[in-house]
Amino acid sequence: MSNCFEIKCSSSKSLARSGVLHTAHVDVVTPFFMPVATKGAVKFVTHPQLQKEMNVECLISNAFINYLKPGLSLIEKAGGLHKFVSWDKALFTDSGGFQLILDQFIHKVTDKGVYFKNPFDKSIELVTPAKATLIQNSLGSDVAMCLDHQPLFGKSRVDYLDSAIRTIEWAQECKKAHEENEGKLNKKQLLFGIAQGGVHKDIRCKCALALHKVGFDAVALGGFGIGEAQVDMYSIIKEVKKVLPENNATYIMGIGSPIEILNAVENGADMFDSAYPTRMARHGLIFTHNGQIKIERAFHKDFFIPLDEECDCFVCKNYTRAYLHHLFKTHEQNGLMLLSYHNTYFITNLMKEIRVAINENRFEKFKSDFEKKYSKKDN
Ligand SMILES: [Zn+2]
Repeated sequence: MSNCFEIKCSSSKSLARSGVLHTAHVDVVTPFFMPVATKGAVKFVTHPQLQKEMNVECLISNAFINYLKPGLSLIEKAGGLHKFVSWDKALFTDSGGFQLILDQFIHKVTDKGVYFKNPFDKSIELVTPAKATLIQNSLGSDVAMCLDHQPLFGKSRVDYLDSAIRTIEWAQECKKAHEENEGKLNKKQLLFGIAQGGVHKDIRCKCALALHKVGFDAVALGGFGIGEAQVDMYSIIKEVKKVLPENNATYIMGIGSPIEILNAVENGADMFDSAYPTRMARHGLIFTHNGQIKIERAFHKDFFIPLDEECDCFVCKNYTRAYLHHLFKTHEQNGLMLLSYHNTYFITNLMKEIRVAINENRFEKFKSDFEKKYSKKDN
């Protein structure tokens, strides 16, 4: 384990902690949330808005999608993924991730690797662990993620065990390739392993420990957010943390709802990514301090208040629910932009509030106050 992560403050009442992830481009304060820029862009939100207005310090992009289009040679010509997408803060790349469980992308998985369907020309391509690593080395991201095998939710214990074993074998190959390529474009590129095992505590813990022994910069937890009970996820995080060193930067992949983030943080999680906030916004589901609202409801038609009276984003400062309801109902794209901005701002600001609360040793109170208000129904 490298010393890429430092714990700054630990709560005296829970496993919550704040810290810093040191990356080649920037130090990122934790806990943090990464908006998802699968193709190099966060849907309906621009990079200057993220960097300058929201202080987002880290994004995650999908290595395989970038590899297909615009392709590695173009991105290398641009000087790497950071330069190509005009992002100078931290950048994670996931090698397959969520796409691995989508029929649209996956053809089959064997011990050699993943046979992907190219959605652009329908060809089939084998991505081995070494290839997934080389792609990320060429993109020059700050954190590369190992190729992992995530079974569909609800598979049998044997399937989860098989996928965990395969994930460990692939991770060893990723580590070897990463060392051979010496980071290629980004000499300080970190490499994280991904523990699988569904909600089976013993499989998760064994997988996490085996990955730790391989020697990654951190061991992340993948395969959540696809149908498991939330309580199972929190207890898995807690159990896995027991077998890993305290200073393992604990990245919970695919989690992005306020309540899930708060509970994961309480159990010692440090970083998150999800398309959830922007996807919800495009469906008109808006985060507010008084619970989630559905902007399409007739109730908001002549409601001349901001989306969230406690939010100080430019959308809440300048526009009313009535106007945003009108834009949403008339399918005006500008509405999707404003709603996506607010949800991304909300979750980024929540992370800031979480960090401050941990640093002031009042996280648990902050969490229960937030949850009480957020659980209000009928908005
Ligand atoms: Zn707002």
